[in-house]
Amino acid sequence: MHTPRQKGLNRYTGDTQRTHATDVLIIGGGPAGTWAAISAAANGASVILVDKGFCGTSGATAPSGTGVWYVKPDQDTREHAKASRYEMGGRLAEHAWMDRVLEQTWTNLHQLAEWGYPFPVDEFGEERRTSLQGPEYMRLMRKRTKAAGVKILDHSPALELLVHEDGSVGGATGINRLNGETWGIRAGAVVMAAGGCAFLSRALGCNVLTGDGLLMAAETGAELSGMEFSNAYGLGPAFSSVTKSLFYNWANFYDATGTLIEGAGSTRGRGIIAQRLQTEPVFARLDRADPQIQSWMRTAQPNFFVSFDRRQINPFTDLFPVSLRLEGTVRGTGGLNVVADDCATNVPGLYAAGDAATRELICGGFTGGGSYNAAWALSSGFWAGAGAARYSRQTKATSPREIWRAGQTGLPNTKHRPWSAQEVIRQVQAEVFPYTRNWTREGEELNDSLSRLDALWENISIGSPLGSALDVVKAREAAAMLATSRWMYRSALARTETRGMHRRSDFKTTDPEQRHRITCGGLSDLWTSTASVHDTIATQT
Ligand SMILES: Cc1cc2nc3c(=O)[nH]c(=O)nc-3n(C[C@H](O)[C@H](O)[C@H](O)COP(=O)(O)OP(=O)(O)OC[C@H]3O[C@@H](n4cnc5c(N)ncnc54)[C@H](O)[C@@H]3O)c2cc1C
Repeated sequence: MHTPRQKGLNRYTGDTQRTHATDVLIIGGGPAGTWAAISAAANGASVILVDKGFCGTSGATAPSGTGVWYVKPDQDTREHAKASRYEMGGRLAEHAWMDRVLEQTWTNLHQLAEWGYPFPVDEFGEERRTSLQGPEYMRLMRKRTKAAGVKILDHSPALELLVHEDGSVGGATGINRLNGETWGIRAGAVVMAAGGCAFLSRALGCNVLTGDGLLMAAETGAELSGMEFSNAYGLGPAFSSVTKSLFYNWANFYDATGTLIEGAGSTRGRGIIAQRLQTEPVFARLDRADPQIQSWMRTAQPNFFVSFDRRQINPFTDLFPVSLRLEGTVRGTGGLNVVADDCATNVPGLYAAGDAATRELICGGFTGGGSYNAAWALSSGFWAGAGAARYSRQTKATSPREIWRAGQTGLPNTKHRPWSAQEVIRQVQAEVFPYTRNWTREGEELNDSLSRLDALWENISIGSPLGSALDVVKAREAAAMLATSRWMYRSALARTETRGMHRRSDFKTTDPEQRHRITCGGLSDLWTSTASVHDTIATQT
């Protein structure tokens, strides 16, 4: 492995407009980041949390109602819960991790109740803790994060990680989007909780999720896993970004003549819709919801109805056009690989939590949306925060003084060959949005896309985009989306079978010999490898 000096990285000398030092730096302030911050502080660490948006309102959870994998600690009930997605996920989930997440989620939801989260009460007087309203949940998480003494820097996207001579991570630099000031934070350890990558598809809450954390981590040598499970598409009205899809369980789907599309309303119906959308518009109507369900829907997810009300469409009686928006790894399951119970990555000093990390450990290769992801975000955040605090404490005295900037592509450099972030984003989207390419994959098309994406990477890795300091944020987003698309298609190529949400038209069945995880990494030269799935049954943590 090359040292930062050998790689020719630039030294960080405190040359940012703001400088800070802390034990633990958390990048991203969604559920994973805020739980990590609270947990790190509870373990005695000083903590700074930076968010691209306003922590508490930014990211995929904040605007949504969120189902949570909250299951009472009864063995049969928990076994049943674990089994519910095990087969669909292609048997890649691991029992020990599922058990740990179920237990930690149970504990953390009790904690939320103690903190005053207003859980609704059922007819037996029991609190219903299987879902959380995003705005209330995240408002409470921000309040508790601040109460824990954590310093929050809002509107302050991280742009790159800082690394020591030995390759360990020791902080990050970024920019304040409101005033353009650059910042640098030296930290004993970093938790990457910057969410997944939804490729700027405008899915609800996702336009801040451009894979920045994956790129920053990969630049330090972090490996990823499950990137082939990255083709989640969210169903929603064609005229709105609301991709909350629960209510479509009560929908029927129709073609332009009003003829029912058979099978589209079933559990496996998304494939039928995706196929139809390739050639014609598809319409929906929530006509299977009776009046009682209709009124429950209005209270359960009020924001679902906003765009309908604005257009004076009654979704229970009127047909409306639908689309599928790419949610990428957000409701997929791939992300940074974690190599220990405390969510450490393979890079010392770097921890991963929430959608930035792989969720294969609990839901294999089938979407983490619906309840698993929320449980993973709060559990992995909790463990990563504690792990980072511990690591920081242990290494404090020995921390080397010199530190380097690990970021490269899309950051200002001396090679002046300007490129346009918007154009890179457009080209990446053209490869990853089409259902024909990404919903169902095919070897030749994957290679075809990869040849263009690889060439694009080579083009943008020499030179930097021209523009203001704030344009750098856009450039890094473009670079991160491009890197993510390449890991995703390279992993998809390596899995020559159909498993979980990864569908290959040239390998239509599941190959028992490929019941392994696909890991990947690299920037210019990508690599993939395999890792085994551990079948050990739960030991209590
Ligand atoms: C429409 C929709 C509905 C969903 N419903 C469910 C559900 O019902 N149940 C379920 O389990 N899951 C659901 N999910 C998935 C769930 O929302 C996510 O898994 C969850 O939000 C992950 O939490 P997180 O903290 O990792 O990421 P996020 O909540 O996405 O937060 C990431 C944070 O990182 C910040 N960030 C990004 N880049 C940077 C950067 N460079 N520097 C600093 N900060 C950065 C963002 O601003 C954001 O605040 C849904 C997702 C969508 C899109």
